[in-house]
Amino acid sequence: MTAHPRFIPLVYGNKVLNEGSDGVGQSVDPSTGAVIAEFARAGAAEVEAAVAAACQAFDNGPWRRLRPFERGRAMQRIAALLLERRDEIARLESTDSGKPLRDAYWEVDCSARFFEFYGGAADKMHGNSIPLGPDWSDWTVKEPIGVSLHIIPWNYPLQLIARGVAPALAAGCSVIIKPSAETPVTAYEFMKICQEAGLPDGLVNLVNGRGSLVGDLLARHKGVDQITFTGSVETGERVLVAAASHAVPCNMELGGKSAQILFADADMDKVLPIIAGGFLTHCGQVCNAGTRLFVQRSAYDEVVSRLHSHISAMTLGAGVDDPDMGPLISTRHMQDVERYFDVARQDGDLLMGAEKPNAPALAGGAFVRPALVVGAGNDTRIAREEIFGPVLTVIPFDSAEDAVRMANDSPFGLVAGVHTSNIAAALSVGEKLRVGQVWVNSFGVGLDVEFPFGGYKLSGYGREKGLEALAAYQQIKNFCVHHPMPS
Ligand code: NAD
Repeated sequence: MTAHPRFIPLVYGNKVLNEGSDGVGQSVDPSTGAVIAEFARAGAAEVEAAVAAACQAFDNGPWRRLRPFERGRAMQRIAALLLERRDEIARLESTDSGKPLRDAYWEVDCSARFFEFYGGAADKMHGNSIPLGPDWSDWTVKEPIGVSLHIIPWNYPLQLIARGVAPALAAGCSVIIKPSAETPVTAYEFMKICQEAGLPDGLVNLVNGRGSLVGDLLARHKGVDQITFTGSVETGERVLVAAASHAVPCNMELGGKSAQILFADADMDKVLPIIAGGFLTHCGQVCNAGTRLFVQRSAYDEVVSRLHSHISAMTLGAGVDDPDMGPLISTRHMQDVERYFDVARQDGDLLMGAEKPNAPALAGGAFVRPALVVGAGNDTRIAREEIFGPVLTVIPFDSAEDAVRMANDSPFGLVAGVHTSNIAAALSVGEKLRVGQVWVNSFGVGLDVEFPFGGYKLSGYGREKGLEALAAYQQIKNFCVHHPMPS
């Protein structure tokens, strides 16, 4: 059998292995169905070896012995190399995940920003000095937690590696990356960059394979000291059980069904494109997608009609051609999303979405049209379940209290948007929302690595991004010294 021209090995310690004990996996371009890469799938033996390599690098490797600013410099080199290879990596990401090229460029830029930001933080992780009175000194130091496991979903394969790995490395940890089997391509490019940046062997390790096998083995492994999981609630709950088997802490970044609250006094020309982007970006396959829109009743008809015109004009195509919307990640996921079109029809009325895109250029790809759902209550399945597709449920409200009550009436609590020209109303609504981020007249600022991100309720716990993320990768050690004056 001839290996695929793009073959992704396992990389751990000083080893690059073209074979894993669970055979070979394939990654496809979701806009055509063509195989674009093959990858070695790890089994139990490779999991053992990779964890041993990460433990060895943590316990005896040079990374922790570097001065913090030297760790920071190595991380800045990773950022620079990502930007140097921006075009090539963005194209690979776009082909592997289906996202439009501009979003793939954003993903590379954002990944570089994580390494710049946390590289800059590496020498600023101060402890505290705690006053105990005369003859006592007490202070804390922050130490790395150990081997940190990163289980990654398919929607932002590179960016979510960078989001977790950068603070872990800054803290002094070693890491193991388990990418999604749907999108293994850019993780390997990242490994090459780590090597080029001079990171020591075993500090960053790449283990591809089936989540239910290697993800589970890694999460249960006693050599792993901490887990950062990003993915669905269902898998996250399994990972928590695995983590509980050896009592290690987890950062859980799970799903969402985020609310956008739109008051009639908002500047509609400005905010409607923001709201549309909030559920259409990457074909709606974004954890914080704003997929429930609560509109003040007096503006409801106008808003539905304008959003309908907006989505009717959307172009679909292969990500690398930079259309308005690329495909979903796979035909299997497309069928899941299409099943929700039936749910939408039972729960309310479906505007668009159901007509199959039939242009010859889209044949073979996992394409769906964006959809608006009207006439469905906030208690319906379509309004409560995460679809991970471009489907927006639009629901009218009569009072701000109504809007807050419905927005909070969800199993999830990741982010929310509030759109109004009355800033006092926005702040008072925002205060009452049970979510990890509130956006006012906005829904993302671009390369937002500086402030914390994470959820309430089933959206998970722990915080990524910002200086807050560092805490997950650190232990705090307290020193207490009694030093009475010699008599
Ligand atoms: P998923 O839960 O199917 O898979 C996530 C990862 O877990 C993959 O690497 C998979 O191989 C692995 N995995 C599967 N079974 C496992 C097991 N038993 N033990 C350990 N690992 C296992 O998620 P997905 O379909 O790849 O991604 C979509 C989901 O991710 C959505 O729910 C989305 O909301 C969520 N997500 C959340 C965030 C966030 O920051 N909150 C960001 C992106 C995606």
